Parts: sequence; C-alpha cells; structure tokens
Amino acid sequence: MRKPLIIGNWKMNLTVSEGVNLVKSIIDSGVDQLKVDYGFAPPFVALSEIKKYLNDSHILAAQNIYFEDSGAYTGEVSADMILSVGANYVILGHSERRHIFKESDEVINKKVHQAVKKGLTVVLCVGELLEDREAGCETETVLRQIALGVKDLGPDHMKRVVIAYEPVWAIGTGKTASKDDAEAMHRAIRGFISKLYSENIAKDLKILYGGSVKPENIKDLMSAENIDGALVGGASLNAESFVKILKFYE
Ligand code: PEP
Repeated sequence: MRKPLIIGNWKMNLTVSEGVNLVKSIIDSGVDQLKVDYGFAPPFVALSEIKKYLNDSHILAAQNIYFEDSGAYTGEVSADMILSVGANYVILGHSERRHIFKESDEVINKKVHQAVKKGLTVVLCVGELLEDREAGCETETVLRQIALGVKDLGPDHMKRVVIAYEPVWAIGTGKTASKDDAEAMHRAIRGFISKLYSENIAKDLKILYGGSVKPENIKDLMSAENIDGALVGGASLNAESFVKILKFYE
C-alpha cells in the first residue's frame, strides 16, 4: 500500500523565524501520530534551521537544485549543499520554475538525474495549462512532461521519484480540478509509468495532487484511488489549515 504523503511548498514566503514558528506549531499539534508522511519545502535559507525541529520521519524538501556538482554558477544551489543541511527531497519542475524561470524539460531532466544520483527523492511536478485542457490535450501534455522529465532514468532511480500532478490553472487560483478529472489524470500517469517501467514500479509510485488543496477539499480529492497525497502551497503557510489537512488522516 502507498502511504499518503503531504508536502507544504512555502515558495518564496516566510522568514526563517516565521518558518520555525510555523513548523513548531504544526508538530506540537500532534500530527506525527497520523497515518500520513508529511514535511515542508521551505526556501533554501531556512532548510538548516527547520531541520533542527524535524526527525527522520519528516520530509525536508528543497524547492530546486542545479544539475552541476559545483562551480561558477552564481545564485545556484547544488544537491550536495541541500543534503549537507539535512534535506532528503527536492521539488523539480514546478510550474513556477517552468513558466516564470523558463526551465525546459531538458534542464528539469538533468536536475532529476543529478538529484537521484545524489540520493535525494524527487517530487517531479507536471501539469497542463488551461489552454491545453480546453484543447483536450491535457493528458498528452502531462505524459510528455513525464517522459522528458524521467528520460534515461533507470528503474532503481525511478523508485526515488514522486510525481505531483498540478494543473497550472489550479495553482494559487482557488480553483481545484474535480476529483474525477484529477483521478483520470493520475490513472493515466500510473498506466504510463507501468508501460515505461513496470507494473511494480507503477504500483508503488506516489502521485500527489496539487492546486489549491485546502481543508475543505482534501477529503473529496483523497477519496480517489490513485491520489496518494498532496503538494500544498498557500494552505501550508498557516498552521491551522495545514494541520486540518493532515488531520484528514486521523
Ligand atoms: C504548489 O505550490 O505546488 C501549489 C499547489 O500551490 P497552491 O496550493 O497554493 O495552489
């Protein structure tokens, strides 16, 4: 069985002390007892401080890495650097990286290779634009992003990949994909991975949903067979709403 997974993506929000206070109040609310793995994706500068409040069962994710080991890449952060401050996951291919920072599938693929080679678990984000959905090519778009994102990745490394399906039109907009639309996409993703790798890898693959997940819609979304958890943006910045989301797994 796939254990559910919830990760809060803070994006470019919260100072280090605000982040620490948030993490402390979430952990103090007793959520470690719940039947869910959970964790945080703070900005780089907060990773080492947040790590002090976590144990080995928590997830600490960076929001990006660069694909080279080290060198003259001003402003970039390497896999070894985030590992050295205790991160165990990295989010790659987030729609904000793809669209605002123009990251190509090729660059994302290089980052995926670098991350898994270094022992990180990757949350590979994929998702269609509203125009793709309106044109009826949302599945084709998402499966292409996955094929290019995991290109040349061996089966052992694929076991260290989580996929987050995040329709771009639902991120930070308050709009959520319907449970049926999300489930249809998650099922298509699992079927695709089964063909690309194996039934076993597909069966164990965690596929998260992301896009305006809130306490009010978590129950409905998580009732779908192929939705294994969520990548939560806005609602992860507030202890009360993030705890309410986690408490769905009571
Ligand atoms: C995200 O950042 O991945 C996300 C899904 O954001 P939000 O929950 O705010 O839509």
